Amino acid sequence: MIQTGLLIVLSGPSGAGKGTVCTALRPTMPDLNVSISATTRAPRSGEAEGVNYFFKSREQFQEMVERDELLEWAQVYGNFYGTPRKYVEDFLAAGKDVLLEIDIQGALQVKRQFPNGVFIFLIPPSLEELRSRIIGRGTETEESFRLRFGAAAGELKYMDQYDYVVVNDRVDDACRRIRSIIEAERCSVPRN
Ligand code: 5GP
Repeated sequence: MIQTGLLIVLSGPSGAGKGTVCTALRPTMPDLNVSISATTRAPRSGEAEGVNYFFKSREQFQEMVERDELLEWAQVYGNFYGTPRKYVEDFLAAGKDVLLEIDIQGALQVKRQFPNGVFIFLIPPSLEELRSRIIGRGTETEESFRLRFGAAAGELKYMDQYDYVVVNDRVDDACRRIRSIIEAERCSVPRN
């Protein structure tokens, strides 16, 4: 496939604030097409089908995997998450930029397929901050918190696989940095 649009991957440990930053970034960059993932996780209150995720049963998700409909997929904290392939490929082929907000396992899979993608690693200012963000979200059981916090601390080691690191100290500042990265990448000279 000839890739003409930019593929931007926003990733990083759980609790870094990827979802919040992505939501804040969207209205400020209307020309960015944000992919909606499929997941087997149950909707949280306020989440809507086709807006936050495409909510699937395990069987439906497995069928998507078997039909090769997912660009990448991963099991994250006991649930499956994946990026529908068609949306991404169609927009890129049309010269449009696409943003994926996905976990690190998924980002590494995408990197193998799209080595020219722009890989941004979002991190919280400190592990203590990470802990309070995961707890503060109020959606985690104790077991789920332990899973997420333990994984997040270990995930920091993947930082060097990425092109950029953005510290999410304040959401507005993180968004401004990400916008700057995307604008600069749009102006960069293509290299092999
Ligand atoms: P949450 O359940 O909090 O919405 O998301 C849990 C984790 O799954 C987050 O780290 C989020 O970035 C990741 N995630 C969301 N969609 C995808 C996806 O399509 N693929 C992968 N690999 N991870 C995803």
